[in-house]
Amino acid sequence: MSKIKCEQEKCKYNSNKYCMKDGIYVDKHASCDSYEEGAKTSNTNFEISSLESKDNQIVCNATHCVYNNHKDCTITHLNIGKEKDSANCIDFEEMD
Ligand code: SF4
Repeated sequence: MSKIKCEQEKCKYNSNKYCMKDGIYVDKHASCDSYEEGAKTSNTNFEISSLESKDNQIVCNATHCVYNNHKDCTITHLNIGKEKDSANCIDFEEMD
């Protein structure tokens, strides 16, 4: 389990740059596959303190990343960035 900070504020799961989703999928290009543009869900009004303690499950298909262990992301604090219509994994590090 990891904590996710996410810059992609157009996503409906994003609340104050925290990811509200219990689990996300990351595709083989290290981009968040669970990104969904749209209105925020009703439970996005959590206090920051509860958001900071939230853990997210990450299933990642970028298996050539150093943090990937059988599709499980082993990083404790994951940073997701923002692109025009996607959300890229900032911490992706290609294995040698
Ligand atoms: S883009 Fe992905 S990591 Fe960011 S809030 Fe949405 S689901 Fe969570």
